[in-house]
Amino acid sequence: MAVVALPMRTRFRGITVRETLLLRRADDLGDTAAPWGEFCPFTEYDDDEAVPWLRCALESAGLLGAPWPAPRRASVPVNATVPAVGPAQAHRIVVASGAGTAKVKVAERGQDPAEDLARVEAVRDALGPAGRVRVDANAGWDVDAAVAAITTLDRAAGGLEYVEQPCPTVEELAAVRRRVDVPVAADESIRRAGDPMRVVAAQAADVAVVKVAPLGGIAASLRIAEAIGLPCVVSSAVESSVGLAAGLALAGALPELPHACGLATTSLLAADTVAPGDAVVPVGGAIAVPTAPPPVPVAALAEHAASPDRASWWLDRLRRVLRRVDDGVPTDPGAVDAVR
Ligand SMILES: [Mg+2]
Repeated sequence: MAVVALPMRTRFRGITVRETLLLRRADDLGDTAAPWGEFCPFTEYDDDEAVPWLRCALESAGLLGAPWPAPRRASVPVNATVPAVGPAQAHRIVVASGAGTAKVKVAERGQDPAEDLARVEAVRDALGPAGRVRVDANAGWDVDAAVAAITTLDRAAGGLEYVEQPCPTVEELAAVRRRVDVPVAADESIRRAGDPMRVVAAQAADVAVVKVAPLGGIAASLRIAEAIGLPCVVSSAVESSVGLAAGLALAGALPELPHACGLATTSLLAADTVAPGDAVVPVGGAIAVPTAPPPVPVAALAEHAASPDRASWWLDRLRRVLRRVDDGVPTDPGAVDAVR
């Protein structure tokens, strides 16, 4: 087990350090082949909310009796992410990524619609006519502002692939969706396992953004994806490469994958939990689908070890949340005892 604090290159969700706990089967310590799982619910989440994240980590570590599914594809296309930067920098980011799809942040607080417009035009120019441009408002618009902005940006982009989370609520997403032709994707509206069906019931989205850890792991996410019946885009929760590998395994196992995924996020971190050769990074706009979690060189992580205070906070959290992961799924009692 290891608790690390990875510095971030860019402030994201208000954090500049990503803390994460890596675990594996305790009775296999010393066995370098035992798979790892990553447990990294954001620190403000309570224990109930952390339960599916732990189930995902335990699944990855082979402790839920559910091996990773066989991949249906060898690699997963991923999108470049363009923050709320000026048009010249946006252009450079897209060209450097090699990706065929770019997600452009819009509706940034303190900016005006003309800045979004210039950024989207620059991204279209960088991608060429065959590339796909999606925008992500992170719930930054009300319904009327969303309808106006989407119409303008759709024209500027020569067609948007979709608009992600234009407004905060499911009801607002549904209202926007009735008024625009651009497909709507739900992201922040899908945070827990029960949320996707609310989105479907409200006819609020054409695309579901799914994250493997908050939905409880690969097997659970595949069941949810089947139940919602919408095209899914697998996205990250800013995990290190161990957790991202589970997201890739999910993307690799989905029956259909019509859109590029948001899994090219290790670039947000200035350090990783795996050796450089095992890092989950895109090559030519796609990431290879792993069939097992990457190995963790624990000794090499000492440089990023969390402080003793933070490490004990994470171990206490792990113990508490482990007690809640008991809903009849066959866990390996020996392994769970070992971390208790
Ligand atoms: Mg989003």
